[in-house]
Amino acid sequence: MAKLQPVRGTKDLLPEENRRHRHVLETARNAAELYGYEEMSTPIFEFTDVFKRTLGDSSDIVIKEMYTFEDKGGEWITLRPENTAGVARALISGGLSQNLPLKYFYGGPMFRYERPQKGRLRQFHQIGIELLGVAEPLGDVEIIALGAEVLNALGISDKVTLELNTLGDQESRENYRASLVDYFSGHLDNLSENSRTRLERNPLRILDSKDEGDRALIADAPLMMDYLNSASSKFFKSVLNGLDNLGIAYRHNPHLVRGLDYYCHSAFEYTTEELGAQGAVLAGGRYDGLVETMGGPATPGVGWAAGVERLAMLTGVVPLGGHIIAVIPIGTEMEAGAFALTQELRAAGFQTDVAFRGNMSKRLKRANKVGAACAVLLGEDEVARNYLTVRDLASGEQQNVSRGDLTEYLLNWKRV
Ligand code: ATP
Ligand code: MG
Repeated sequence: MAKLQPVRGTKDLLPEENRRHRHVLETARNAAELYGYEEMSTPIFEFTDVFKRTLGDSSDIVIKEMYTFEDKGGEWITLRPENTAGVARALISGGLSQNLPLKYFYGGPMFRYERPQKGRLRQFHQIGIELLGVAEPLGDVEIIALGAEVLNALGISDKVTLELNTLGDQESRENYRASLVDYFSGHLDNLSENSRTRLERNPLRILDSKDEGDRALIADAPLMMDYLNSASSKFFKSVLNGLDNLGIAYRHNPHLVRGLDYYCHSAFEYTTEELGAQGAVLAGGRYDGLVETMGGPATPGVGWAAGVERLAMLTGVVPLGGHIIAVIPIGTEMEAGAFALTQELRAAGFQTDVAFRGNMSKRLKRANKVGAACAVLLGEDEVARNYLTVRDLASGEQQNVSRGDLTEYLLNWKRV
């Protein structure tokens, strides 16, 4: 039988790593709450159509990356590669647009069939937010500020840069697209094959190309800024002003794009130099046409998603918060009493660990291993004279504490 392995691109989250993920999630959830964004969850799978319609036939995700299968009932199902489509579907199928604006936060696993590498998995996790029903540029400012808040609360602001661009409104984008088609059509011979396909389907995406020949052409390509109509230009200025007012630094990257038709105005990305090729940490933008594209009522929207794995790598080790007290019986006759004491301490709200076997020194070792700060020892003398020995595991110092004073004593104990 073949050796049992996790599926390529998937990963077990053992406690140390799981703790980091949880820290990222909880930090983001708290920041979202501070901004009035409530958590919601959509199913991990949807009808394939939900993603086909929103992401479009020409996106990398739909062409190459989706986990799609036919279920036993003959329905085509896809494991969600991202969560905005699911949120938009929920808005439509749940008739939620009666209550706009809506502010949502989400977090959970996503699935993409990609080439696995550091910071790129097939099952990965995202946190994200969506602001629906707000067409004002202050909406863009708010969600970027919330992104900054999360990065700041995680202590990684100095490792990331905010890159920002505008795609303008539909009219501006159409004019720009025409100018790009014009320009790249004049340089077909130097364009990569991929980008030649993009030229037909999705010319803006060429600006995203990593191909060196393409990059040289892109450097001289027309710029969106020169094709913005006055409304779009005003919108962009308002977003920049809003960010300036908040002291949020950004770099205008005129080549930052999102390829699909319903994207407009702000497109942004927090990037880092510290994760090699996987530099995108948090990415988002405005998607005013999305809900309508899916068959719902015209609803402006703006949001972002961030990769939890990448955030967790930048965050580093998160100290253990748990197991502060280990209860240790001295001798097997004391085991039942020690377990009762353990339960008593747990009932009083102390994080408590008890080993199930071993002599005192083995149990002390285990206590150190789980990161306990102190051990409560229970032996014959302790029972006879109704006290406990509390041992500081860092210094080795011991203190006798009468049974009745134990919880009080532990409460005042220098917690770590
Ligand atoms: P990339 O350029 O790295 O492929 P993307 O443009 O596909 O990213 P988005 O679809 O914007 O990414 O998703 C938002 C965030 O989710 C990314 O910035 C990244 O942090 C994370 N992410 C995307 N794909 C993966 C993956 N396969 N593994 C881990 N994290 C991912
Ligand atoms: Mg990708």
